[in-house]
Amino acid sequence: MMHAYFSDDQLRHHGKTFIVAGEKKPIPEVPERAEILRGAVGRLGLDLHAPSDAGLAPIAAIHDAQYLNFLQTIHDEWQDVGGAEQVIPNIHPFDRTGPYPRHPAGKAGFHLGDTSCPVSPTTWHSAYASAQTAIAAARHVRDQGAKTAYALCRPPGHHASGNIAGGFCYLNNSAIAAEELRRKYDRVAILDVDLHHGNGTQHIFYDRSDVMTLSIHADPMDFYPFYWGHAEEAGAQDGLGFNHNQPLPLGSGDAVFLDALDRALARIDDFAADAVVIALGLDASRDDPFGGLTVSPDGFARIGEKIGTLSCPTVLVQEGGYVSETLAENLYQFISGFGATTKTNPI
Ligand SMILES: [Zn+2]
Repeated sequence: MMHAYFSDDQLRHHGKTFIVAGEKKPIPEVPERAEILRGAVGRLGLDLHAPSDAGLAPIAAIHDAQYLNFLQTIHDEWQDVGGAEQVIPNIHPFDRTGPYPRHPAGKAGFHLGDTSCPVSPTTWHSAYASAQTAIAAARHVRDQGAKTAYALCRPPGHHASGNIAGGFCYLNNSAIAAEELRRKYDRVAILDVDLHHGNGTQHIFYDRSDVMTLSIHADPMDFYPFYWGHAEEAGAQDGLGFNHNQPLPLGSGDAVFLDALDRALARIDDFAADAVVIALGLDASRDDPFGGLTVSPDGFARIGEKIGTLSCPTVLVQEGGYVSETLAENLYQFISGFGATTKTNPI
């Protein structure tokens, strides 16, 4: 049976509020999401494990040391200057080429890309545990010959770049998993099916040809993250031709999504990927509170089926997907469809 990974430490982080349309709103990336997804893992009968601690090195392979230090220390520094319970930025640099700021507010604006990634005393512990979950799933595939594994990552990761958090994401779990797979496999693809463009993942691998990044998402002309995810972003330098974005019109449903998925899978086939990471957001659901796309539970089963036809080892890394009446069902349907077509029996 397919292995799934999750650590209770991932429940500790709870960002309280962010700014939407000029108003303070509760952050929907709540610990309850993970509980709901864990329920689906139980219903699927997956073999659930806590990840072992692989240390900081696999995370530092993707993220700057300065940024990792920031995530671990900024909350204390913020308190020292009279900051509120959560670290939330109020200024951002035009670019990040100047001197690194000394004041905590300057550091916050340097490393936190928007208001949806506040740092609380427990944030690092959960982000670190979420990354360990991704590492454990990748290593199960890489080192133990499993065809697939599921990492129940929370907080999610695909909006985090090497040194900037954003969109509820702090450590880029999918990128960390891909880099782990690269230790063994020459060519790794990351296919992101989250409602939102995987801007952090794209940025991390933008100039590399050994990790292809592909994302299917709501058109950023009209949707977060706005500045990235357009079709013309194709990679740079060695990475030119190794980044593929498919922005979909808002409200698109199963048929449009599945057509885009066929094109992405054909690209992965042309690339001759040796291993694949699926950045498995479930917020393209028609029931998701973000309301950008309208994929049905049956659509998620079909998405899973198509991805299950990949012949290479495949690591599923949980990204977004928020509390709705079908959140558990969408994961259940995806993994059921995926398991139905996976060519080699999962170990
Ligand atoms: Zn998302």
